Amino acid sequence: MNAPRRSQPAQGRRPGTAAPEASAAQVSDAAVGPDAPGTAAKGPLTLRELDAISVERLNGVGRQRRRALAEVGVESVFDLLTYYPRRYVDRTAQAPISEAEIGSEITVVADVLSVSSRRLRGGRRLVSADVTDASGVLSAVFFNQAWRERQLTEGRTVALFGKVEDYRGRKQMTNPVVDVLSGGSTADRTGKIVAIYPQSESAGIVTWDVANWVGEAQRRCAGRGIADPLPGWLRRQHGFANRSQALADIHEPPSMAARWAARDRLVFDELMRVQLMLRSQRLAREAHELGIAHEPSGTLIETFHRRLPYTLTGAQQRAMGQIDADVSMLRPMHRLLQGDVGSGKTLVALHALLIAVRNGHQGALMAPTEVLAEQHCFALRALLDGFEVPDDGRLGGRRPLRLCLLSGSSSATQRREVLVQVATGSADIVVGTHALLEESVKFASLSVVVVDEQHRFGVSQRARLRESGRDDRRIPHLLVMTATPIPRTAAMTVYGDLDVSVLDELPPGRTPIATQWVRGPLAAESMWIDVQREIEAGRQAYVVCPLVAESESLDARSAEQTHAELSAGALAGLRVGLLHGRLPMSEKEAAMARFRAGDLDALVATTVIEVGIDVPNATVMVVLSADRFGIAQLHQLRGRVGRGSHASSCYLVSDEDPTAIAVERLSALAATNDGFELAERDLELRGEGTLFDERQSGRSDLKLASLVRDLHWVQAARDAAADLIAADGDLDAHPELADEVDWFAGRRDPDYLHRS
Ligand code: ADP
Ligand code: MG
Repeated sequence: MNAPRRSQPAQGRRPGTAAPEASAAQVSDAAVGPDAPGTAAKGPLTLRELDAISVERLNGVGRQRRRALAEVGVESVFDLLTYYPRRYVDRTAQAPISEAEIGSEITVVADVLSVSSRRLRGGRRLVSADVTDASGVLSAVFFNQAWRERQLTEGRTVALFGKVEDYRGRKQMTNPVVDVLSGGSTADRTGKIVAIYPQSESAGIVTWDVANWVGEAQRRCAGRGIADPLPGWLRRQHGFANRSQALADIHEPPSMAARWAARDRLVFDELMRVQLMLRSQRLAREAHELGIAHEPSGTLIETFHRRLPYTLTGAQQRAMGQIDADVSMLRPMHRLLQGDVGSGKTLVALHALLIAVRNGHQGALMAPTEVLAEQHCFALRALLDGFEVPDDGRLGGRRPLRLCLLSGSSSATQRREVLVQVATGSADIVVGTHALLEESVKFASLSVVVVDEQHRFGVSQRARLRESGRDDRRIPHLLVMTATPIPRTAAMTVYGDLDVSVLDELPPGRTPIATQWVRGPLAAESMWIDVQREIEAGRQAYVVCPLVAESESLDARSAEQTHAELSAGALAGLRVGLLHGRLPMSEKEAAMARFRAGDLDALVATTVIEVGIDVPNATVMVVLSADRFGIAQLHQLRGRVGRGSHASSCYLVSDEDPTAIAVERLSALAATNDGFELAERDLELRGEGTLFDERQSGRSDLKLASLVRDLHWVQAARDAAADLIAADGDLDAHPELADEVDWFAGRRDPDYLHRS
């Protein structure tokens, strides 16, 4: 291709992307790497070394560019090499303009000859650019995209994808997809696959600059090469290229096949680092932690099982079996129990707690809210009514099993009393909220801890409860339960340090919940008639109020208002209760008790009822302003109904015209009751970032890997990490890999994988 006349390079740049700055850090090729901190040897460059070299040492990156790059998370050469292309323009398959057929959809790569803009009759703006690739000329026209005039400045090389039209004998594309490939002065990349990097208008980061820096970094690394710590057998097993090759091919793929192969290799690297880190942390923990070995059977456990009014589901039995095996060991249990709403996690928890009691120790159950702690306490009391345990005071004597509630709103006297019982061991099972974590809570002999709704607690809180007040420094067994189903892929990644039990089976006799998406106030009118009809048939309803803000007091006020409106309007004449987090404990308890006893027809509530509430006669769930809630939360709320043998329904009331993303969420909920499916969908809609710490988005662990798309690689990496660590816990045989995991673990906040 003959280069057309080009304008001055300076004209081809965007604001903020001045001509390459002379950088104080301009250094000779040989200087990158060898004199990086802590690198006496001249072997291939490790990621740790690449991460210690500032991008400022590249040509054309001065202070200003360094700041711009930092804004998109690129500070080191490692960051730059893993600033992966967003997509590619395949210039090996591009068509010359002269051969482009009218009516075909093609990519042309050409230089901008001229651009103009005018206003059409009717006010629309038309931007028109003529481009040439030496074989011919094509016009690209854009309607109402005035900014194209600035994008398509004369002399720039662009890729246009679109349908070729004939306009008065000339070839034309209307609103084509545009990628600007160069600012007018970079090397020609004809016949190559050209990477398009994520650009940032605000930071002034454009794709061709990134391409040049990446190219320079690669060239300057070439002398020493980039180390590949992955064992050869593992590379061969998956047919992986070495790391240097993969990094070269992802940025400048010789073919699309090479690009995919490179991606696989780099995805595997990312997942493998996470898995190895979690595995080795787990190994380290297990090496120094000593727990208490329990006998998981006996009269108490047998009685509990015999008295259950129903048979356990297969999944419950399986989970209990896994817990039995764990708690019989001296090594502390560290298990996640994952089960959709209504799958019966409480019984599994109680089974674990009773094993502690059976062995003369104590169990604690921690819940995220007062309402839920109270609810658990109520449920457990019913199940444990009449149970006895040996009385230490009298030889051969027995006393009733004692269950205590410790919550933030217990009175001072109640609290003192409970603390004494907990400390002396006369409390066998303690249920509570965060209040359980306080310094003043000392257990006589805590041996099993259950944390419900794990996602609301951080790891450090979790650790705190495990360590609370055992003088012998033994670590209690830990069971964390979550109803918010974490997609399997994510669970494997994030919870690589936990064993996982899954309740994938609902108790029999449940009728599926019919979910309707109700749009706007008119549709809601007929919904309220349905609600009244259900109530007349003897059922009960929840009405969940809009989320106002991240503020409990505002939410409380909205609940009060909704309660007043409904009592005077749609639910007039019915017994309507109110429940929100701002009520005193006694009022909360009273409202729940009345609803449970059937003395209330409807309960207007904030999301305090989101988790755990269990009233089988409630068959209607109305969520107001449902478009403000997330998928997981709506699924939780819906799970409050469908718990008995009566058919249940859920109404998700939204604005007339919700946002596109809210439409996706509400449609997903209306389409399925399967929490796992919903969680996968949620992950797709929210993107991967939210699983991890958002503040770290620029330095996230997974830049390329997708937990949704790359399930098989997650599994492969998990298996490989397990094999490596099982054979050689400290990775002594693979010092480079061990060093990489160390470096990786060191650049991140230890808690952040687990927080949400
Ligand atoms: P979740 O997993 O949401 O915490 P729960 O433990 O609250 O579920 O159980 C939901 C309901 O199912 C409760 O009413 C409980 O008594 C009931 N349940 C639990 N296990 C069974 C079973 N095996 N058969 C029948 N009902 C069960
Ligand atoms: Mg529960």
